[in-house]
Amino acid sequence: MMIGVMATAVIKIYLALRKPGLRARRMNLYASALGFEAKDLARAEGTLHGRPACVVENQDRTLSVSIALDHPPALQIARDGLVGTLERALGTAVSSGDRAFDGRFVVASAGDRARARAAVDEGFKQVVKRLFDGFGVTALDTTRQPFLYKDKHLFGGRGILHAHVQRLDPKNAPALLARLDELAKLLEGVPLHVITLGGERRAERGATGSPRCAWCHADITGSEPDLVACEKCATVLHEACWAEQGGCPVMGCTSKTAERARERG
Ligand SMILES: [Zn+2]
Ligand SMILES: [Zn+2]
Repeated sequence: MMIGVMATAVIKIYLALRKPGLRARRMNLYASALGFEAKDLARAEGTLHGRPACVVENQDRTLSVSIALDHPPALQIARDGLVGTLERALGTAVSSGDRAFDGRFVVASAGDRARARAAVDEGFKQVVKRLFDGFGVTALDTTRQPFLYKDKHLFGGRGILHAHVQRLDPKNAPALLARLDELAKLLEGVPLHVITLGGERRAERGATGSPRCAWCHADITGSEPDLVACEKCATVLHEACWAEQGGCPVMGCTSKTAERARERG
């Protein structure tokens, strides 16, 4: 009897000691594969492809992988199922026009629907499929706000592309991050040389992948004489469109000042 109680106590202590040890070891594996720093038992963070990023192990051993990106459209992507049915019922689901893709995934817009729809192009679909099929990703979203101090510190005022991952072999972590970087680039828009502003700014991507005005959605080339750029996020739009909107139309950007050609030297 006594021996039994003691044995149970010893096993309990052993398990209690072992559990954090294993967690820490797993986190160290992710950290070393990515060149990150293991911050605690469940979190590693660093910079990859020039973006602040972190890997967090949740209580159920799934992973939350997040990387920084700038001014993405607000999207949530999941495998079709109950959530998809709900999103379709609520009218927040964005159709890609591709039955095979729409039958497997549901893309929900939490903001500008036209911008979300434009983001769902061929390149986007390819990367999303690879992430879900090749890396155990079960959900993606760009709608998270940094909540914890450590996230605010890591991501600053930038947006977050977040992937929920069922299981991930640490040696595949760099490839997963590379795919997320690819998706982030697609969502961030395209660089556009604006002649009147004398340099490169950022334009939203239209449905064909070409730059467009962030407000009226007309295609732009950068050579139009009436383009302005947001002083905060560098998004390009027509001067009249800026005036109509009264500020930057990009979700999350609250800037009221635009850079105009005539203001230059
Ligand atoms: Zn416009
Ligand atoms: Zn802006």
